[in-house]
Amino acid sequence: MPGRRRQRQRPDPPATGVLDWKDSRHWSQQARPCRYCGGVTNLRDGSRKPAHKTCAEDAIQAQIQDQAAAYENERLSN
Ligand SMILES: [Zn+2]
Repeated sequence: MPGRRRQRQRPDPPATGVLDWKDSRHWSQQARPCRYCGGVTNLRDGSRKPAHKTCAEDAIQAQIQDQAAAYENERLSN
């Protein structure tokens, strides 16, 4: 009997990022240091912490890839 074939698929993160930066919740009158790079920004990320758009999106991408990898490792070890 042939062995079962294992299909591996990793979800692709959206190329445009997952946050809607046009939303006013991502903007503050008060400039604060970015939580990632320390540069001053008026933007806020999804947790309303000061963050540049690019810094937050990089962090989200890294998180998504981490989660996808962790998920895959978990599945493969079962
Ligand atoms: Zn930054």
